[in-house]
Amino acid sequence: MVDPTKFLDAGVHLHGHTCEAMLLGLRAGAAAMNRLGAERSAEAELLAVLEVGKDERGRCVADGVQTVTGCTLGKGNVQLLPGTPLSLTLVDRATRRAVRVTARVDASSTPTDDAAADALRLFRAPERRLLSVSEEFEYRPRTGGDGARAERIDTELTAVKAARKRGR
Ligand SMILES: [Zn+2]
Repeated sequence: MVDPTKFLDAGVHLHGHTCEAMLLGLRAGAAAMNRLGAERSAEAELLAVLEVGKDERGRCVADGVQTVTGCTLGKGNVQLLPGTPLSLTLVDRATRRAVRVTARVDASSTPTDDAAADALRLFRAPERRLLSVSEEFEYRPRTGGDGARAERIDTELTAVKAARKRGR
């Protein structure tokens, strides 16, 4: 089991301030990994697809998710897409098994001292208050407005699968 509190310091260090959206990202990433039974992504075993919600401040969630899942911009296995509500789809790239975690709270992220205390209270709330976690499903990249990018992810996933089959 992944314990998001173990990543609290690292998340705040990476992100630079303590805000609800980043902390929600830590919780969401851990919840998705626990539902999938996934290890932290050392290479690019996992893919994190983030829909950032209608509030621009929701983007802070990405740093929490990167901290806990190990999916990073640098490794190219995190995607930010517009979409509501704020959600994370975490994909095991070898098997395409995925879960989608959706925020049940409106994460605002004003980095003041009071906000940090409020954010930490939110961080410690029970999971069912913060997040809705789907059952596992087979990941199919989204098509439509973002079709080209979705197509690219799909191609990459197929390549990863083929490499695994060949016993790379
Ligand atoms: Zn923030």
